[in-house]
Amino acid sequence: MSNIIGRMKDTNSQISSLIRTRSVLYSLEPLGIGTPFVESLSSYMSRLSNIHNLKVSSLIREVVSPILENPSLRKEVQLGTISGGITSRYINENSIVTQDYLRAFEILTCQKNIQYTTMLNWKGLFPKNVRNKYRRWCPSCLNQMKYNSEILYEPLLWSLKDIKKCDIHETKLVETCPGCKKKLGHLHAKYQVGYCQHCGFWLGECIKHIERDTISEEERFIINNYKELIEFAPTLSWYPNKLFSSFLLNKIKNELGFSSKRELVRFLDYNYETALQWINGENIPSSQTLLRISKRLNTTLYKLIYNEHLEIAPTYKKSEGDECSKNIPLKEVEQRLKDAIDSEEIISLYRIAKDFCFRVQTAEKHFPLLCGELKTRYKIYKSKQRLDRKIEIETKLHDCLNKEIPISLISFSKEHGIPIKEAKRYYPSLCDKVIQRYKEYLFISKKNRYEKLKIELEMIIFDLHKRGIHPSKWEIAKRMKEPQYLSFDKNIIKIYEQIIDTLEY
Ligand SMILES: [Zn+2]
Ligand SMILES: [Zn+2]
Repeated sequence: MSNIIGRMKDTNSQISSLIRTRSVLYSLEPLGIGTPFVESLSSYMSRLSNIHNLKVSSLIREVVSPILENPSLRKEVQLGTISGGITSRYINENSIVTQDYLRAFEILTCQKNIQYTTMLNWKGLFPKNVRNKYRRWCPSCLNQMKYNSEILYEPLLWSLKDIKKCDIHETKLVETCPGCKKKLGHLHAKYQVGYCQHCGFWLGECIKHIERDTISEEERFIINNYKELIEFAPTLSWYPNKLFSSFLLNKIKNELGFSSKRELVRFLDYNYETALQWINGENIPSSQTLLRISKRLNTTLYKLIYNEHLEIAPTYKKSEGDECSKNIPLKEVEQRLKDAIDSEEIISLYRIAKDFCFRVQTAEKHFPLLCGELKTRYKIYKSKQRLDRKIEIETKLHDCLNKEIPISLISFSKEHGIPIKEAKRYYPSLCDKVIQRYKEYLFISKKNRYEKLKIELEMIIFDLHKRGIHPSKWEIAKRMKEPQYLSFDKNIIKIYEQIIDTLEY
């Protein structure tokens, strides 16, 4: 084994020369890419160690650690055990530790698909606490793999905190080894897919103790949401950033035709202050909240993010004592729909349903033609609104570019109430021009400012010098228009020192 390590343990320069020609480790493809059952990073690490005939700890310590970027992580891995400390605590989590490992494995194996073995691409939605604290597994799935002679692996799905059951076998995922009764960490020197790292017990054995546990509609919804995100991740060209939840909530507000944030929050049924922070991008809702909102809108998180327009049919919750809890006669529903069609004001079907306390599904079932007409009218109205909005943004961007004094894209966004993301989505090159123009302006302004300050400084120093007063910083600052530069600006301080030098003080 030491020979193998010796061969693979290289200095950074040797590694980079190897990278140019071939991968340091076998270029092992992660299993299940493009399906909801992609393997987890720790499963991948375990299989990679296996094919090199190494323990996970040897692989990490000897081969991976030299190219880790984070110095404290590198030090910990090289000095300590991998099953304690930050490595095991944060591996498979959406953290910089996972990111560092992914980078290292990508370099060592030349595999670009390793990123999909974690939820790191979804960091904008789930910044932390996405994985369960301990390994979880479905014994039936493991048995199935073993008896079908398939390659054993553990899907990423099993490691997620929100996933508690296997939807194939309708059983609870297990997280205690039946052999030694221990809970198992995500990383261990002897980590081996399908086996307990402490006692070597085959984890498929638990099948004897497992009973069928029906999956509720709620649980299936959660599982399907994560499956969709995992399955489609490799096909996507962008992933949500941390401001995305705010953008999403505003999109829902606009598409559903709510006139205020308060109205949206009431519909989503959250505390106003808390939800306002999400809408304003000051805080990110938890994974459970995002899933609950998707459920409320009868859609999935994936569709909410990637469909340009929402195809949603929200369900309205009627609270106790709410006047909406009374049953609205169908005749009245029909009349409301007709009134809305006759009205000049264009309102969405969802908004009408909310205002007059009936369910969209009821209306659609009994009055499909009226609902169809309302929906089409609203769709046309919204697309016209979008077109107007596009024209408005384009005009304002052109105006901005014609301004005598350039402004930043952030100022543009604040001045006109146009989110940067929206402007960039429609007119990326115009936005780039605004950014570039402002950068150039800043550069020239800065240059001019220094020129002016230099002249002012020279005049003051020479004047003091002529009058026999020592040109100390204090004396100069008293005479400068903006004395703060002399205290904090390195360039100005340097200029001051140069002039003083030439006067031989
Ligand atoms: Zn299963
Ligand atoms: Zn065990």
